[in-house]
Amino acid sequence: MPNTLYLVASPIGNLKDISQRVKEVLSSVSFVACEDTRNTSKLLSLIGINKPCISCHEHNEKVESEKIVRRILKGEDVAYLSDAGYPCISDPGFLLAQECIKNNITVVPISGPNAALLALISSGLETNHFMFYGFLDAKISKKEAEIAEFSSFPYTILLYEAPHRINETLQTLYKVLGNRKLCIAREITKLHEEFIRSDLETLVKENNEYKGELVLVLEGKKKDTASEISDEILGKANQLEKLGYSKKEVSSILSTIFDVNKNKIYKELIKD
Ligand code: SAM
Repeated sequence: MPNTLYLVASPIGNLKDISQRVKEVLSSVSFVACEDTRNTSKLLSLIGINKPCISCHEHNEKVESEKIVRRILKGEDVAYLSDAGYPCISDPGFLLAQECIKNNITVVPISGPNAALLALISSGLETNHFMFYGFLDAKISKKEAEIAEFSSFPYTILLYEAPHRINETLQTLYKVLGNRKLCIAREITKLHEEFIRSDLETLVKENNEYKGELVLVLEGKKKDTASEISDEILGKANQLEKLGYSKKEVSSILSTIFDVNKNKIYKELIKD
């Protein structure tokens, strides 16, 4: 396919995950652009491919993307690889893909491993609906605010985390969300691959050391039950209605304060 950007997934640990298609694409393109030329050159030489590599990482992606687009428009094909897994997923590649799409360049994904999805399917937590969040902010106050934002999300949540921050993150998750199931997926596809299926309370108490690369698979908020619309909520609703707020306004205010689904509150208020 002429004038194409190939977004190529690369191994997240196990080199045997390189597919035949990845090899064919890497052999066919005019050049390779990548997050780190040292890593990708090593990978290319391991699979016996010799291609010029140029760097395009988070600090130069805007400028380099424009240069790469000019080359593609002149008739070259390029493969883009990040250091591991899917480009664009907590990795560079997005600006390049966007710039290519703006210029009507064909963008072709070449599949392979992704840490979040491999963790999800092995976690034992719900897989039908989920959200990939990636890295939380390193600053605790911002991390707490981010977690509070997805506290009412009812489906599985996927987080990336570094080993030196995981215990602090587990504590913050527990503090903001209370107890929930959580699977720590460690060193996926590597020699010491491990899936620790537990819950936040236990993991916080254990305060273990976790080495290597980690994905956290967190259970979503359990569905509200009628008992969650407590007497306290109903009491406050009564007071607000007396002040002249409509049932809809009351539901929305109390949903924010008590972190309970506003439709649940509304249904309870219109019951009688
Ligand atoms: N683009 C990658 C992908 O598609 O998965 C993610 C890159 S992001 C910079 C790196 C993070 O992904 C790590 O800090 C870790 O949270 C997760 N990760 C990458 N490889 C992993 C592995 N083998 N096992 C567990 N987590 C991994």
